[in-house]
Amino acid sequence: MNTALAIGGAIASLAAVAAVVYGRIRRVKPKVMGAWTQKLLLIECAEPSILPNLVEAIKLWDSLQWSMVLIQTIPGVIQVKTDPTLEDLGLLGRTFTQVEKDTGRILSATIYVVPNASVTTIAHEIGHALGFDHTQITGHLMHATKPSINDLRGLERKT
Ligand SMILES: [Zn+2]
Repeated sequence: MNTALAIGGAIASLAAVAAVVYGRIRRVKPKVMGAWTQKLLLIECAEPSILPNLVEAIKLWDSLQWSMVLIQTIPGVIQVKTDPTLEDLGLLGRTFTQVEKDTGRILSATIYVVPNASVTTIAHEIGHALGFDHTQITGHLMHATKPSINDLRGLERKT
């Protein structure tokens, strides 16, 4: 074990002790950051590997009167959501793709765009969801900062 790990371990266990003491004395509840209005919540999952533990976690929350229905969806979904906080980061959109390590196969993608996103922004993010990285060509759809729908070179489906 190296020193950094040992120190890290010590800090972690100290924090655990402090949390227990704090909880015992103050009996604090977690701060509520937001609330659902729907009585029945849908949980969506396309990953068979996580399902058994997800089912158990849902049961745990169900015991606290949080009713949830698990929907098993198929992989191959591109989700599009809006995120107003992107603007604070100086972004119009961002895309997360889940790529299978060995094959490079894209399993799913989630696109986040600002609520008033333009066609160009959305088309650019769909490009990322389809597996395209940025290009240096100014005015190309996949240019990082100044994309345009007037240059779509190299984006045709090959297979
Ligand atoms: Zn981009």
